[in-house]
Amino acid sequence: MVVKVTSICCIGAGYVGGPTMAMIALKCPHIKVTVVDISQPRIDAWNSDELPIYEPGLDEIVKQCRGKNLFFTTDVEGAIAESEMIFVSVNTPTKKTGLGKGKAADLTYWESAARTIAAVSKTNKIIVEKSTVPVRTAEAIEKVLQRNCNTSGVRFDILSNPEFLAEGTAMDDLTAPDRVLIGGKIEGQEGTDAVASLVEVYANWVPQERIITANLWSAELSKLAANAFLAQRISSINSMSALCEATGADVSQVAYALGKDSRIGPKFLNASVGFGGSCFQKDILNLAYICECHGLTEVADYWYSVVGMNDYQKNRFVKRVVSAMFNTIRNKKICMLGFAFKKDTGDTREAPAIDVGNGLIEDGARLAIYDPKVSDAQIAMDMGAGMSNITTYKSHIEALRDAHAVCVMTEWDEFKSYDWGEIYGVMQKPAFVFDGRLILDHDKLREIGFIVYALGKPIEP
Ligand code: NAD
Repeated sequence: MVVKVTSICCIGAGYVGGPTMAMIALKCPHIKVTVVDISQPRIDAWNSDELPIYEPGLDEIVKQCRGKNLFFTTDVEGAIAESEMIFVSVNTPTKKTGLGKGKAADLTYWESAARTIAAVSKTNKIIVEKSTVPVRTAEAIEKVLQRNCNTSGVRFDILSNPEFLAEGTAMDDLTAPDRVLIGGKIEGQEGTDAVASLVEVYANWVPQERIITANLWSAELSKLAANAFLAQRISSINSMSALCEATGADVSQVAYALGKDSRIGPKFLNASVGFGGSCFQKDILNLAYICECHGLTEVADYWYSVVGMNDYQKNRFVKRVVSAMFNTIRNKKICMLGFAFKKDTGDTREAPAIDVGNGLIEDGARLAIYDPKVSDAQIAMDMGAGMSNITTYKSHIEALRDAHAVCVMTEWDEFKSYDWGEIYGVMQKPAFVFDGRLILDHDKLREIGFIVYALGKPIEP
């Protein structure tokens, strides 16, 4: 029987759990949505005016729904017990160990969530994998659920519903997704009703043709594959940026020409200092691990090279800074504009700024960091021991005062509208700009007097 869902719980109130549940609450006023987490500070923040994550448009939706049909609580067991459908959106980080170059996903948090679901469930539940998990995780989860449930006759239907949102545009992505992918039993087997129940939730705002159903393993693998393909595009254009510098070609012109080919398309072709975020590297390493487990070493190596290219790009950027600045940056103040892994988010997980910052500090630089959304405490946590060589600033102009160089690490729009003449005035001379995101007007900067190095662009004589 297709259950018309009226109560949903989501385990994990993070970058995915919070925004996705806020969207369901907004679009489905008839459904009670409860988001739970083991972290009391995170739940307190969701219940306050200062949400734990920054995402354009999220505040308004949470404020509109909170207390009506959207709730945040640490009462994990209570919320599970009273819900018909349970999304699991816990973190699935990378393990430190692995077979070869690949690294398995750590499913500790997932297993713990599954054990809790099993222990408190007295009625049938539809379990929805929202976290990104290795292909065939549902098989293992089913065993955990069955072996830990003490109430006889309780039925668990497991679905895969990977999340494709991108941080910074999460609310737009959730409002009008390219597709919603639901993996489950779809070929006349027992359990097909669970797929229909989840389809019905999304059908409240997503057009039917964008809701795709697939078998469980295809859905699980599709998410890893999607992130691997996206990261591969970035590494591909970054590899071209190195070749452009070596040959006098311009990576923006190459990307434009490539993007005009309708088979390639223009998106995700911006050369940069490298990709970051909590997902791309983690998911590729996991994909490579799964390949290695199946003896597919060559396939694993293919995907591993995407991560290798990303590391190369970050190292190359540091080397360029050092070589341009007369081969020494010892005791020089270098300002990093931006620390988040991309614009419109405060998320710094795997941000290129971390590796580049550490590389510059290793070479003796003093770092000044300004980011409009990342807190000083977050930077201190990410940079650890390196913090003794770092000062963080609340104003860009103070961060740039007396700096020898500026490195653009995040593509924040505000950097483009700065008064670069004023900035030139407060910096040491010669003043260097290293544009790691290709967002500034390089000709204008050169007119002002800056020495400019932009990734993938002809090098200054
Ligand atoms: P996150 O770290 O921001 O949030 C996960 C939350 O789960 C944390 O707050 C943690 O305290 C909580 N948690 C862990 N174990 C728990 C338990 N047993 N009970 C209750 N709460 C528990 O992670 P995220 O960025 O939201 O990512 C979640 C998943 O979604 C990951 O698998 C990730 O790969 C995937 N994903 C992330 C993004 C993204 O842009 N961040 C996009 C798509 C998919």
